[in-house]
Order: sequence, then structure tokens, then C-alpha cells
Amino acid sequence: INVFYQPLEKIAALIETYPKGIAGFRRYQELLATEPDIVDAPGAREVDVPRGDVAFENVTFGYSPGRPVLTDLTLRVPAGETVAFVGPSGAGKTTLLSLLPRFYDVEAGRITVDGIDIRDMTMASLRRQIGIVQQDVFLFAGTLRENIAYGRLDASEPELRDAARRARLDTLIEDLPEGLDTVIGERGVKLSGGQKQRVAIARIFLKNPPILILDEATSALDTETERAIQASLLELSQGRTTLVIAHRLATIRNADRIVVLTPDGITEEGRHEDLLTAGGAYRRLHEAQALHQKGAGLAAAE
Ligand code: ATP
Repeated sequence: INVFYQPLEKIAALIETYPKGIAGFRRYQELLATEPDIVDAPGAREVDVPRGDVAFENVTFGYSPGRPVLTDLTLRVPAGETVAFVGPSGAGKTTLLSLLPRFYDVEAGRITVDGIDIRDMTMASLRRQIGIVQQDVFLFAGTLRENIAYGRLDASEPELRDAARRARLDTLIEDLPEGLDTVIGERGVKLSGGQKQRVAIARIFLKNPPILILDEATSALDTETERAIQASLLELSQGRTTLVIAHRLATIRNADRIVVLTPDGITEEGRHEDLLTAGGAYRRLHEAQALHQKGAGLAAAE
């Protein structure tokens, strides 16, 4: 699809962030390219889901016929819970989470939000309920204000400022020559990786969806920035159903539930301590990651 011919709200509802780099960009292109296949079903309803209970029921999905990535997967996430997905690369974590905003449709089974099959909702109303933070953030050439307002175009000035404050953008705004009206991006003030993440977070505070999808950064920002971002994300996740592809021990440890996804499906589920005691795949993953993070000098980020 050509994004420039889409109404802006529709795009805004779809994208908080935009992965950059060839791989990320390609993946995003693929997601956009698949979009026209997925259209509102006849009779699809505009739905508001006040709670945000999410359920994957016997979900099977693959990118090519006969090669399922997910098979008969069932997972219920009560409203407000934070679930951290961990598991080997290629197990299907990203795939699973991309089914919720309907970047793809399930082959079999169903996904529901507050008990309603997401295919019975209009795409616009489904995506209004979901905020997505990915590793790399898409900022367009324009002012900081415009970039934040992208989260919800009809937001008032106080709402916008509140979102910026909660994303801890206030210091940046004070430091910029024209505050919120400073032009950022290619032709303006360049923001750091951490500052861009904050813009993405501000967008979601503004949008205020009941469901949050986080794809945690694998590559580290410096420890202090990382901690600040983690704190904002933790605040953002409060009171929202949060599904996070977790790479950070701190995130994993604080999750209400950890789900270990492997090519064989969900092999373990539970809280950090319980899974450590169980001594299965999670424990082995944890030990490997703890070592890795120490090696990378990230142990302090815990
Ligand atoms: P990682 O932690 O490395 O991101 P993951 O658990 O998120 O891995 P996915 O990215 O969901 O795993 O990939 C699951 C499988 O689906 C892999 O075999 C991958 O090659 C394949 N896959 C992912 N995206 C696509 C796509 N757009 N088209 C075709 N195959 C894909």
C-alpha cells in the first residue's frame, strides 16, 4: 500500500514506530504489503474494548502453506497482566504478536479481545486498542509536537504535554530552541536513540490503548538511558495488558508471567522464581542470558 494515500489517522493507528535498518525495514514492508489482503469483514463492528482481555485460542499460523510457525497455540492473558515472551530466535515470538493487530490472520483457531473475535472488529477499532513499541522508532520530518501528536491527532494541548511529561520528554523540550515546535529529524535537531524511544512512548500515552505490545531492544542504549526508558515503559504498562518480547532480565523478572516459546510451542509458563525452581528450559535460558548480559556489561541494568 502507499501510505501517503491512507488517511493519516489510519496510519497513526497502525504505526507508532518504524523499524529501520535493512532487515527491519524489509519486515515492515512485508507487513504493509500484506495489508490489502486483510480487510474488514462484512458486518465488522466498531468495538471499544474497555478491559483488554486477550486470548489466543488454538492458533495455527505459518507464512507458507504446510510450514506452520505456530501450531494449535492457546494462551489467555487477563486484562492488565504483563506477559514476557522468551525463547530461541525463530521460535515465533514476533509472529505471534503480529497476529494481534492483524498484520496477518490466523490459519486456524481465533484471537479474541474481551471475548470478541478480532476478525469481527473493524481494523481501525482493533488497532486503536493496541499500542506498539518496536526497537527502532519512526519519526517524520516535522516538529516534535507533530511527532507526538501522531499518537492521537485530536489530542488537546494539555493532553499532549501530559503525555510528553510522562514519557520524560520535558527536559528535552526545555533544552530545545523552540520547545515542542522545534523541527526534528533530517533537517532539524537530531534526536538520540533514547529520545526517539521517548517520543514513541509519548505517542502511546496519548493514544492510551488498553493493550500494549513491546518488542524490547536487543542492542543496548547506554545503561542510564536504558534504565530511564525501562522506567517509562513500566509506567506505560501499568493498567494495560502488556505482551513483551523480552530480552532484559529486569523486564522478565518483573513480568506477571513468563511464557517460553520454542519451535514446539509453549513449553513453560509461570513466574520467574517458579520457572527457575522448575529447572527446565527457562532456567537454562536464564543462565545463558545472565552470562551474556554480564559479558556485555549490562548486569547493572537488572
Ligand atoms: P527473534 O527472537 O529472532 O525475533 P522470533 O521468535 O520472534 O525470533 P519470528 O521472527 O516470529 O521468531 O520467526 C518465526 C519463523 O517465521 C522463523 O522461521 C522466521 O524465519 C519466519 N518468518 C518470520 N517473519 C517472516 C515473514 N515475514 N515471511 C516469512 N517467514 C517469516
